[in-house]
Amino acid sequence: MGVSKPWVEYFFVGVLQMRCSIVTDRATGDTVIIDGGGEPERLIDWVDGFAGNGPDWSNGPRSDNGSYIPSRKVVALVNTHAHFDHSGHIPDLLNRYDVQWYLHPDDTYLQTLAPSSAQRYGFEVPEPAVADVDLVAGEILEIGALTFEILHTPGHTLGGCCLRLIVDDGPDHLFVGDTLFAGSVGRTDLPDTGGDFTVLAQSIHTQLWPLAPDTIVYPGHGPLTTIGHEKQTNPFVGDDAGAGIYSRGRYA
Ligand SMILES: [Zn+2]
Ligand SMILES: [Zn+2]
Repeated sequence: MGVSKPWVEYFFVGVLQMRCSIVTDRATGDTVIIDGGGEPERLIDWVDGFAGNGPDWSNGPRSDNGSYIPSRKVVALVNTHAHFDHSGHIPDLLNRYDVQWYLHPDDTYLQTLAPSSAQRYGFEVPEPAVADVDLVAGEILEIGALTFEILHTPGHTLGGCCLRLIVDDGPDHLFVGDTLFAGSVGRTDLPDTGGDFTVLAQSIHTQLWPLAPDTIVYPGHGPLTTIGHEKQTNPFVGDDAGAGIYSRGRYA
């Protein structure tokens, strides 16, 4: 049911350096863009033709790109949550790709605030899109050749979700948005968002820690990590975290 040897690229986009992840099935070219919130032209140029300023580990097409994937076909846009840095430029991607956009309905209101939130940081995003498909807690979502399990993990936002890409021949990949970071957790003090540290910690304890320790974690900001490493060492929610010592994370 899972994908074999998926190809995962990521870009840090926008003023908040948010991680947009691009997941491709090598066999079919089916591609899902996760959190396409910023720098849409850059994303489109790379996805469509390996042109322009590529992923952050590269400044242009690698010589082996073409041999792996003849062409990519974007089959969906999916969001972990609706903060503007993750979702603000979704309308631009929807103009380019005739696909559906997936978001948890508890973040619908937050999505309507994207322009005013962006303004607080001094820049503009388009009129917000309305999600086409609701993410559902516990659902196994098959999109093209890619299969995700949807984990609803409120606490950073009401509708925050983690997306587990099921992989047949290697560790799963978990796209966590701002729920969990390497050594930290998402902020719970942002306005109009429904943040709550107790809820966030419970989401992580009950839904993320039971996952396989080698699961690769792609946070919305900062470096990659794994479930096992964070469970052991995370000072906010890890096994040795003191109760209540830390109550808020670092990133929006
Ligand atoms: Zn963020
Ligand atoms: Zn956020």
